[in-house]
Amino acid sequence: MAFGKQKRSNKKHDSKPYDHPNSNAASEPLGATPFAPTDEALKGEEEKDLESYLFGKKRAPRVDKTLLELNVEKNKQQDDAVVDSVMGGMADSELFFMDAPGRSKTGEVDQEETNPLDAPFSDDDEEDIMESDNSDSDSEPDSESGSESDSDSESESDSSSSSSSSARSVKKSNSKKAAWQDPDDANIKVSLKSQAKLKKLRQDADEDVVGGKEYERRLKTQFESLNPRPQWATASTSRGIAGQDPLQSLLSSSSPFIASSRARQSVLPSGELDIERIKDVKGGEEGPVRCLGWAPSTGDRDILTVAGSDRRVRIYNINGPSNPLLSTIHIPSLPIDNLKFHPHLPQVLLSGKRPFLHVLSLATSTSARLPLLPPSSNIPAPKSLSSVSFSPDGKILACAGAGGTVYLVSWGAGGPQGLIAMLKNPGGSGKGDGIDGLHWAKDGKELWTMGANGGEVCVWDVGARRCINRWRGTNGGDGWGGFGARILEGNERAGLCAVGSSTGIVNLYENDYTTEAAPPKLVRTFDNITTSISSLCFNPDGQILAAASKEKKDTLKLYHTGSMTTFQNWPTASTPLGVVTAMGWSQKSEYLAIGNKRGKVLLYRARAYEESTLRNVVSKSGESRPTTGETLAMERASPPFNVRKLAVLMHKSEKDLARKERFMAEIARTPAFRLDDIHDLSKDEIRERTMEKFAIMVHYVTNESLETFNLRMQLIGIADPAFWTRFGVHYGLFLGAVRGGATTSQLNYWVEKGVLGLNGVIGCFGMTELAHGSNVAGLETTATFDRSSDEFIIHTPHIGATKWWIGGAASTATHCAVFAQLVVDGKKHGVKTFVVQLRDTKTFQLLPGINIGDIGKKMGRDGIDNGFIQFTFVRVPRSHMLMKYTQVSRTGEVFEPPLAQLTYGALVGGRTSMVSDSANSAKKALTIAIRYGAVRRQFSSGGNAIETQLLDYPIHQRRLMPLLAQAIANGFTAHKMEEMYGELSSALETLEPNDPNTQDVLDKLKEVHATSAGLKAFCTWSCLSTIDTCRQTLGGHGYSAYSGFPSMYNDFAVQCTWEGDNTILSLQSGRSLISSYTDAIRGKKLAPGVSYLARPNVFEAKSSGKLDLEDIDQGWACVAANLVRKAAEDYERLVKDKGMTKEMAMEGCSQGRFVAAKAHSIGYIFRMFKSALEAIPAEFENEKKVLLVTCRLYGLHQIEEQAGGFLKYGYFERKHLDAIELEVNDLCAQLRAVAVPVVDGFALSDHIINSPLGRWDGQIYEAYFDHVRRSNPLPKIHPYFERLIKPLLERQPATDFGGPEMRTELDEEIAELAAEAKRAKQTNA
Ligand SMILES: Cc1cc2nc3c(=O)[nH]c(=O)nc-3n(C[C@H](O)[C@H](O)[C@H](O)COP(=O)(O)OP(=O)(O)OC[C@H]3O[C@@H](n4cnc5c(N)ncnc54)[C@H](O)[C@@H]3O)c2cc1C
Repeated sequence: MAFGKQKRSNKKHDSKPYDHPNSNAASEPLGATPFAPTDEALKGEEEKDLESYLFGKKRAPRVDKTLLELNVEKNKQQDDAVVDSVMGGMADSELFFMDAPGRSKTGEVDQEETNPLDAPFSDDDEEDIMESDNSDSDSEPDSESGSESDSDSESESDSSSSSSSSARSVKKSNSKKAAWQDPDDANIKVSLKSQAKLKKLRQDADEDVVGGKEYERRLKTQFESLNPRPQWATASTSRGIAGQDPLQSLLSSSSPFIASSRARQSVLPSGELDIERIKDVKGGEEGPVRCLGWAPSTGDRDILTVAGSDRRVRIYNINGPSNPLLSTIHIPSLPIDNLKFHPHLPQVLLSGKRPFLHVLSLATSTSARLPLLPPSSNIPAPKSLSSVSFSPDGKILACAGAGGTVYLVSWGAGGPQGLIAMLKNPGGSGKGDGIDGLHWAKDGKELWTMGANGGEVCVWDVGARRCINRWRGTNGGDGWGGFGARILEGNERAGLCAVGSSTGIVNLYENDYTTEAAPPKLVRTFDNITTSISSLCFNPDGQILAAASKEKKDTLKLYHTGSMTTFQNWPTASTPLGVVTAMGWSQKSEYLAIGNKRGKVLLYRARAYEESTLRNVVSKSGESRPTTGETLAMERASPPFNVRKLAVLMHKSEKDLARKERFMAEIARTPAFRLDDIHDLSKDEIRERTMEKFAIMVHYVTNESLETFNLRMQLIGIADPAFWTRFGVHYGLFLGAVRGGATTSQLNYWVEKGVLGLNGVIGCFGMTELAHGSNVAGLETTATFDRSSDEFIIHTPHIGATKWWIGGAASTATHCAVFAQLVVDGKKHGVKTFVVQLRDTKTFQLLPGINIGDIGKKMGRDGIDNGFIQFTFVRVPRSHMLMKYTQVSRTGEVFEPPLAQLTYGALVGGRTSMVSDSANSAKKALTIAIRYGAVRRQFSSGGNAIETQLLDYPIHQRRLMPLLAQAIANGFTAHKMEEMYGELSSALETLEPNDPNTQDVLDKLKEVHATSAGLKAFCTWSCLSTIDTCRQTLGGHGYSAYSGFPSMYNDFAVQCTWEGDNTILSLQSGRSLISSYTDAIRGKKLAPGVSYLARPNVFEAKSSGKLDLEDIDQGWACVAANLVRKAAEDYERLVKDKGMTKEMAMEGCSQGRFVAAKAHSIGYIFRMFKSALEAIPAEFENEKKVLLVTCRLYGLHQIEEQAGGFLKYGYFERKHLDAIELEVNDLCAQLRAVAVPVVDGFALSDHIINSPLGRWDGQIYEAYFDHVRRSNPLPKIHPYFERLIKPLLERQPATDFGGPEMRTELDEEIAELAAEAKRAKQTNA
């Protein structure tokens, strides 16, 4: 129920109570004097029908025609008549809607183009052979596997090269060495005169050669003087172990968005890397491994793809012990130089010195050979595609062509989709000088290209297609130590770009520079490799850079980017790597794959990135696993967004968030609002507590602005639903009815009686009866006008008409807004509202003729006293009928309002508040479930020493992450609904008799009414199932009352029933959609929420395959539109072919209406979420990114759930659904990585959550144990041992079991059965 209904009017209520409604007609705002619409012609046909139904006006019969005919008929006039006849006159007590008057179509209907379906991957490359899974001999254990020996290696003497097949760890030493120490330093001599850059390190002009140690020291001093050490680097080295300092501050600044799943990280200690070798895999039958790559995000699986010189691509599942081969693909036509995973799609791009690409689709296990540019393009494609790179969002592929030209090609699920731009290197000669390096920076806004000719780096502004900077290194000579740069690689997380030169120098530059004039800042030069750098590779979190040279055996270095040092312990000069030709880090940095010239891929596991190790490293407790509190702290360690800013977005504004925080503090400190004991209170105790809170809340309701008070009540609604209901029954329902239905003078009267401050009136709302609920028109309580006494007689004619379920009636209300049939002179005039006093306010005795009872314990919300009421000829003054609309004069004349539809505005507020309550309650449930899932561990997956967090199981992510996305989507939709309701309320408030805006207000009312009906139903349903799923994710503890879930579920369940049963509301929404569809056919302007029904080609739309927000939006529009059309056509067929009445036909197509309403509501929620994202200001960029993931997850997961419709109407094909499944997996994993900070953004205090299992600090077991103990003290004397248990235990067996004879009988029976079994056995034998 909405508290908006009791909005205090600023108008002065100056008329006297009991005024005759007609006596002050001039001063009444609306309805006091019946008025006719200003212009009959303004009304649509349906409106006239509706009026005829409501007001009994006679309408001339019209000619029926079919809707199907309508689709083909050209004659517009005829169309209108047909639509009117079939779709018109849907008057029904469950529906409020009417036609808007005909308007011009031009410019008023959303125009959206559909994208043609992408061409699927063609499998036409007959040269490419997909070899069977596991058929490769690599699947068999390699005799050399696990061995450190490699025939490439000259040195077989490494102590770790013994042929043990088990993994062996290169252990960290205990003593910590200087952060700048490099093991190779001791052996080198550096000439300080040899390079311009080094000259600055001299202490006098003549100084030249220094030793490695001294060189390090000076380099360090110089670097630190230029670049004060970042705080996080200091922390990591001085404290050594992350987690001993709040990790939040350490990494938050450098953490970008959830680039891949499991983005959580810890600070990696410098110095030594704990790394062990695991089983090798084969990279090819012959020749060097050419390139390799890891799938960017595949949940818990690490998928390695290797391209060998035998032109085969092998795909492995790297798990440590067995590393099975999954598949081998042979591509004879392509010598593969480049293997790139698409960042978001399940695709691998392969290229080489050929003018075409190959794309492997992991989703469909197909491969396709594709041209870079369409054959129709008049721009010649590059002849070689050796250097390619996807933008971070995967939408652009950059390809280096000849002459320093870079082709930017649009990319979609089907591969290249056309040239976007060509970037011509301004320094390029135009021929021969290619590009050796491509690096996307600044989240794809910049592209850095490095020319092969001299290694000049160009920084491109991708949006402007402009080179904004060109620079070379600062190592003297050509800038790269005289021999040219060879390779360029960057990492956004580290904020670094590495350039490797032909002399072995590796320069590290800051990625993030903005000046166009100067080169980026050089952060560090490593020169402990002496041959040309051929591979550079950052690990995904950017804390390690690997550099290798293929000119010399065993040449690979690992650099720690935090401290800018070389890892000392590995690899050593004798680590038998062979000639390194390719390398790559797995998605979570756990594995490093090193491909060599012998066609082998050596695999190493970096234990620092192993899940269990990470946990051990950060554990402060000294226990073998982190405590639950530590685990939760780690979950919050490095969110790639600001939690506060995310919270602001989800609460509309900083002001609203701050207010909510204040309310939470106030509530927590108010003793009456204690919640910890609520689960153990009896029904009567809870009810008493409810009334205690009344007085406190009355203070706020009478002193705060409506807006502030509504926010306060939203919060109370999720913390204490029973109290919220009791309070809401008075202020939302009772006062809402009075305010909505009373004339000004009547309202003044009730205000003076104390309806606002509860000083004289405590109300309840008497609509439902024992035999009637949803069908309000069928209520049977009567209010018969007695002309002689100028009174109404309220009466319950039989038991079925007993008012039932009436909240507050049982023991707390003084007055009731009674819904009863108005009877004047024996004629019924429909259901109207009458204020009837129930109890004496002084004695609280029931008044004569009133019979009230308590209806007892309910499923939930026991804080409210629901009761029944029977009236036996109870007399009330005529003025107690609320007469803002229908009026009864002193002489018994009944004046009906011309636009009774306006009264429907009163229903919208309640539904709107329930959309918001659904979002908030789901957020509460998810906060508990997600925090619990993060700290609860069960089993150990993947052989980790520490048990796995529940939230790390992909299926657990599948259970919770889509619900998290849904709750957030519903939250944004609730904001929109509140906005619409606010506008509607103001419009209704200010509407005057004969107001020219009447039709506009009615249109708005129609839209909000229909929208709120569908949303109320589908949001409350989704919330209820969210609560139960969350409960189940807590296992047994979810069943404990103290988890909060049992009461949450029981309290929330009624939201699906009251204020409009969900099924009925869904049907109502479906009916309204049919009406909108007919409006669309007739060319009428549609309300924004349904405008997609009039989009050109919406019914035939096809997916672009991009699965982006546009694609998803269009998909929902297409499916919803088709379902609405189907429902409309079914309805029409039932009328025309089966000869049904319109009402029967409506019932006949109720399933169609229901399904259409569901698709429409989901699509609507998605669209609201999407449009909220589009409106997010630029300063919330990081927060917007996580919401984008959430929005896509919502849309795609709902598509998965409703896949039938998408296939049926051809928007998606099967391959798309396969891709969606993978995408949803990935999005779930992405959201899981930040799930704890995201639910923190819901900003719910522990008091409001009221569950020890969802506490902010993660100390769940201690708090739960404590709570259970405190709430259930064992009594010193057992209450019923003596009376019940003792006699049971001490009873005589003989008495119970019938004595020795019965035992004998039993023995005989057993013997018989045994003999029978023996016989049966013999027979069978
Ligand atoms: C805790 C609680 C508190 C309440 N408080 C109040 C209160 O303070 N004041 C008050 O007046 N009322 C109150 N109610 C009553 C509530 O508003 C009604 O229960 C609700 O409107 C549903 O009506 P009903 O129970 O008569 O169900 P019915 O209308 O009988 O519906 C029963 C079932 O039939 C289905 N159904 C009914 N009609 C159709 C149809 N045409 N097509 C298809 N399916 C149909 C419904 O979907 C439903 O599943 C309360 C109810 C509860 C549970």
